[in-house]
Amino acid sequence: MKIAVVGAGIGGLTVAGLMCQIGHDVNVYEGKDNLDQVGAGIGIGSNALKALKQYRMAYAIEQEGQPLEQIKIHSDLDENLSALNMKQDDTHNITIHRNVLHEILKTYVPSERIHLNHKVTEFKPTGDGVRLCFDNGEVEEFELVIAADGLHSNIRTQIYPKSLPKYAGYTCFRGVVNAKLDIDGKEALEYWGHKGRFGIVPLKENQYYWFCTMNAKENDLQFKSFEKPHLQAYFNQFPNEVRQILDAQDEVGILQHDIYDIAPLKSFVSGRVVLLGDAAHATTPNMGQGAGQAIEDAVTLANLIKDRDIEAALKRYDKLRVKHTKKVILKSRKIGKVGQATSTMKIKSRNAMMKKTSSKAMNRKVKFLQKAKLK
Ligand SMILES: Cc1cc2nc3c(=O)[nH]c(=O)nc-3n(C[C@H](O)[C@H](O)[C@H](O)COP(=O)(O)OP(=O)(O)OC[C@H]3O[C@@H](n4cnc5c(N)ncnc54)[C@H](O)[C@@H]3O)c2cc1C
Repeated sequence: MKIAVVGAGIGGLTVAGLMCQIGHDVNVYEGKDNLDQVGAGIGIGSNALKALKQYRMAYAIEQEGQPLEQIKIHSDLDENLSALNMKQDDTHNITIHRNVLHEILKTYVPSERIHLNHKVTEFKPTGDGVRLCFDNGEVEEFELVIAADGLHSNIRTQIYPKSLPKYAGYTCFRGVVNAKLDIDGKEALEYWGHKGRFGIVPLKENQYYWFCTMNAKENDLQFKSFEKPHLQAYFNQFPNEVRQILDAQDEVGILQHDIYDIAPLKSFVSGRVVLLGDAAHATTPNMGQGAGQAIEDAVTLANLIKDRDIEAALKRYDKLRVKHTKKVILKSRKIGKVGQATSTMKIKSRNAMMKKTSSKAMNRKVKFLQKAKLK
């Protein structure tokens, strides 16, 4: 089948690699002039790696990733609030540098099949296919278009004009440092306080990925001008590990992004166009599942297209992915709301509730992630 994948992010490259592996005629169209990744580290859930296991990519990702066994949540005064056990049977959650992940995914798509500087401006349904129009004037027809063009997907907004990114109310800074810290290499730490949240996530070989989130106006100028010393001052009252990691951060290379999701969609399919990854179900990063869900989408679509005719495959994809990813969006939104609380009363009762909740009970809340059907 002649397939176009729009967007060469994690979702687009994964689905393109899988479709190539099962023998389709695949081309990837990326709007930018390069495949460089903006981003620090990323966690890939065991649910996504387990899904990928039947295809070759999983092995390389696991090899390059750092297994993560636990996420500990502390208060900004360093009291234990909660812990999430990440160990799942024989498949681990891993953390990995985004650039490394991208390099791995790229190797599964022949380079001549990735077309840079090809921004899709619109699609036009044709009988049993789709015509894509690019900003360089090119037009081409395909039997299937997989829209993996991210949070700001213009393919999604062509189908659903009202489906615009929804600002979550907080902004996020991120970085990667090389440092020797007294932190177990298999544990991530998060500190939740009045001023926001700060997370420290081990990567391979004495590298750590850190992030912090603080309530802010959308495009808040105060935070746009934040540099390392501002972050150090802002988190000065947080525990030692936070101060150490910010000390180790270079003056340059700190990323800042406002956080968005989209309202859950009713369907990811419109004729022969199918939405995948953030284009279909962008979520806030509170569950660390955006890329994981994009990978699950890719595996599900590949599995279904292998076994069924295209109409039946797309129908089943919708059935399996829409409801499941809606849960992720809504749960993740809720965690963000609780995590970003600022009133002393709310924080007190949240912390008390978290202390009372056992690690097992915490795990039960995210158990649905392990139960996604993939065909
Ligand atoms: C702060 C933060 C932390 C996160 N942490 C995690 C985590 O730990 N674990 C996790 O699983 N997820 C995490 N996520 C989410 C994750 O990054 C995304 O879900 C994932 O990258 C989405 O991949 P994608 O391929 O769907 O979209 P994207 O990565 O956005 O890729 C879309 C691609 O499409 C291209 N494009 C856009 N429009 C067009 C067009 N018209 N024509 C052609 N190309 C186009 C873009 O240039 C881009 O390359 C995090 C997100 C944020 C913001």
